[in-house]
Amino acid sequence: MDNFREMKPSDVLIVGAGIAGLRAGIEASAKGGSVRIICKERWGVANSSILSHGFITRCPEEAKVKMFEQMLWAGGGLNNQHLLRAFLKDITRRVDELRDWGVELMIVDRNPPQFPGLFRIVSEKDKLAGLPLVNNLRKMCLSQGVEFVEEVMIFSLLRDGNSVVGALGKDLRRGEVLLFPAKAVVLATGGGAALFKRHNNTKGTTGDGFILGLEAGANLINMEFIILDVPSPIFSSILEGNWKEDFLNKANAHYFLGGLEINDEGETGVKGLFATGEVTGNLFGAGRLGGTAMADVLIFGARAGSASAKMAMAKSLANPEELAKEEMRKLESKLKGKLPPRETKEEIKRIMWEHCGIYKTEERLKEGLEKLLRIKEVGICKEGNWRELLETINMLELGELVLRASLARQESRGSFWRPDHPLPDNHRFFKNLLIAKKKDEYKLYWKDLEMIQPPSPKDIPISPGCFSYRF
Ligand SMILES: Cc1cc2nc3c(=O)[nH]c(=O)nc-3n(C[C@H](O)[C@H](O)[C@H](O)COP(=O)(O)OP(=O)(O)OC[C@H]3O[C@@H](n4cnc5c(N)ncnc54)[C@H](O)[C@@H]3O)c2cc1C
Repeated sequence: MDNFREMKPSDVLIVGAGIAGLRAGIEASAKGGSVRIICKERWGVANSSILSHGFITRCPEEAKVKMFEQMLWAGGGLNNQHLLRAFLKDITRRVDELRDWGVELMIVDRNPPQFPGLFRIVSEKDKLAGLPLVNNLRKMCLSQGVEFVEEVMIFSLLRDGNSVVGALGKDLRRGEVLLFPAKAVVLATGGGAALFKRHNNTKGTTGDGFILGLEAGANLINMEFIILDVPSPIFSSILEGNWKEDFLNKANAHYFLGGLEINDEGETGVKGLFATGEVTGNLFGAGRLGGTAMADVLIFGARAGSASAKMAMAKSLANPEELAKEEMRKLESKLKGKLPPRETKEEIKRIMWEHCGIYKTEERLKEGLEKLLRIKEVGICKEGNWRELLETINMLELGELVLRASLARQESRGSFWRPDHPLPDNHRFFKNLLIAKKKDEYKLYWKDLEMIQPPSPKDIPISPGCFSYRF
């Protein structure tokens, strides 16, 4: 893995071809920049395509105050309220414009009261309900000159000083390493539920973007908040104190609420690095309402696309060749261990599900962390296919971060449930948990909330340990 091929530079490089990446592509190319979208799968394989019902939340003007409160309630009060305000500002037009672009939507009958407007995408195949939307957005991108690159896995972002200037990717079909110089990079790589043995996501949802962003200097926020799909009778039984190990076989990891910290333009704090979609973390706080993930990817996809193009226009292109060589050396040094990637990946997934799945006590979490750190110490060897290898490296880091964050939050809030701390603790933990990487070490720290209207506990009846999202 010594050589690489340098590709034609682009103004904006978007990593991820789910709805967040596609929506960013439409907006960035409309601003006149050259845009390239890269995905590690074959085209169309993404969580954005496999939505089981295709719910999208829309909110009419008169219901926005109510929805603001509902989203805070679902998020255990931890939502970044600036993002929430931007979300509600754009929600109606971002959903409505889909109809102009040929996507058929139908209103869901008997909306629950907290859902002023829940729509479904009309689709022939229920299990691929997102596909019509994904296909339409791609057509829009192509008509505006966006270039698509499939089956290339980005494994490193190139940073010159405080500025991201491109990315390195492995061509999974041909095996060569490709250097993509770019003035701005948008991470739209989705969540990380495939970190767990049981999940309902596509198998490539391994959280690569969390690690790419963190390594490039961005912060992660609230990585302990993960929506788990647990059947209600099982959840009730656990809450009553009847925990059975075989419950682990009846639930699934579903959605990462935590992720890269962004502002309302999708900026990460590292110049030239933007993020959007499930890879980001501070809109929803500790839980979310059903159908809001789709609205999120449309709204903040467009915002990140627009802001990244604007930045790219004002920036000159760097020469990232030397940086690329350095990144390749770093990767080589990570592959000097003994463990085979394929088996190690399965072991990580098993550890994460058993120790950090639906039953997270301090003892279980600590045991899980010890097991992962032992794997890290022995290290992974360079064998098998590259995708397996690169994903396993990312999952090992991600697993450690999720375990450390889950240990730090000694309370239950929203999607996060600790049987040894079964109630919310507003006194100590009405805060966001940030992770930064400094000099090769992870730093976890608590950050006060950014509030526009301070919620009183009366306005936000935080219920502990809700696994699924709220309807
Ligand atoms: C079964 C299921 C049903 C759902 N139903 C709903 C619903 O009804 N309503 C709702 O609001 N939400 C729903 N969700 C959640 C929603 O689908 C996701 O949150 C959303 O699709 C995420 O979109 P995204 O664009 O951020 O990421 P994804 O759609 O996950 O796309 C990620 C993209 O990044 C690429 N990628 C990742 N890593 C790399 C890398 N290293 N290099 C290159 N490319 C990379 C992938 O190939 C892919 O193209 C559902 C999720 C699931 C799994």
